[in-house]
Amino acid sequence: MNQLKSLQFHTASAKETEALGEAIGELLVPGTVVALYGNLGAGKTTITRGMARGLKIEDMIHSPTFNLLHEHKGLIPLYHFDVYRLTDSSDMEDLGYEEYFYSSGVTIIEWSEIIADILPPDHLEIHLNADSDMRTIIITSTGNKTDLILRGLNNLQ
Ligand code: ADP
Ligand code: MG
Repeated sequence: MNQLKSLQFHTASAKETEALGEAIGELLVPGTVVALYGNLGAGKTTITRGMARGLKIEDMIHSPTFNLLHEHKGLIPLYHFDVYRLTDSSDMEDLGYEEYFYSSGVTIIEWSEIIADILPPDHLEIHLNADSDMRTIIITSTGNKTDLILRGLNNLQ
């Protein structure tokens, strides 16, 4: 199979970013870790809201900035982290992060760069860049499992 490294998308509204998130969410499988990158207001929570919808989760999705983690029940449980307030990954040990990252749930992490050293080798990277209401969204796979997700997404285009 040819190497498919990453896909680039452009969205013009929060609604469009959420729709892209929904398409991604439908492709996520148990054990997937999604690492989100992008400045404040880039759309990390918005795309997470879409992925939750794709996972058929009905809860309201908000940034867990103060709680660090929101757990959402679903056919596949969703662990939504926002590690903005952490300086590095050391606090994640106390939280027992491995039970989430290496579980049969889906883990989505906002501000992943802060805990880059503990991300599983195979994860889906999503970079969001804002320019007024436009967002450039680059999705990259880093292993065999997330390659399949990227391929699935490519087939929808
Ligand atoms: P983050 O979690 O990265 O801080 P949020 O998803 O909470 O960002 O917020 C993104 C903000 O940008 C929201 O207010 C949303 O309405 C707005 N917005 C405008 N255009 C877009 C777009 N194309 N995609 C995503 N969000 C957008
Ligand atoms: Mg957020």
